[in-house]
Amino acid sequence: MTADFKKDSPADARRAAFDALVAEAAACRRCPAMCGRSAVLSERNGRVCARVMFVGEAPGRQGGDRTRVPFSGDQSGRNFSRYLASIGLRREEIFITNAALCNPRAESGANRRPTRREVANCSEFLRRQIQTVDPRVVVTLGAVSLDALRAVEYHRLSLKENVGQVQEWGGRLLVPLYHPSPQVLASHRREAAQLADYKSVARALGLAAKPDGARRREVK
Ligand code: SF4
Repeated sequence: MTADFKKDSPADARRAAFDALVAEAAACRRCPAMCGRSAVLSERNGRVCARVMFVGEAPGRQGGDRTRVPFSGDQSGRNFSRYLASIGLRREEIFITNAALCNPRAESGANRRPTRREVANCSEFLRRQIQTVDPRVVVTLGAVSLDALRAVEYHRLSLKENVGQVQEWGGRLLVPLYHPSPQVLASHRREAAQLADYKSVARALGLAAKPDGARRREVK
């Protein structure tokens, strides 16, 4: 009896759902241009019952595609780790993934932005990751991931107008942030502004711990 109870506990069910998702993503060949790569999704993406999930664009060639951990091994990853640390969050406390689970490359071999079709192909995996991890707070890193969430639960947010704002979204809180890549830092959102934006993630985590009524009154 004890063994059966443990096997069927919510934590075990969540782990089983996650393992099934990992196996399906590993076998996925839906995007023809991604066939030489494999999905960056495993227990190394973080805590499967995390309170906060970060969603980026796609694994980078020198980053997640090489290390098999999203946002690690390249400058975007180092920036991301620094911004997390600025609000006292550790990697072990979060779950991090991408709108497209495989690394998109141009013919030259350089990273490219995933196409709309590739992001749409991967949206069911994104929906199931959110459903399985069930985070209270979702943080998007860049416009591609903010757009990708529309296929999971529709919203009208834009990165330019809503960056750093805490929003109600599908029974969770959503915080749109810029991507931490060196290119974005140089052209769209400097380090000081990004560090300020991350304070909204800390605020969202505090709001998420409040009862529904109190939280809704405070979310602007
Ligand atoms: S990006 Fe997503 S949908 Fe496309 S092949 Fe990889 S896992 Fe499959």
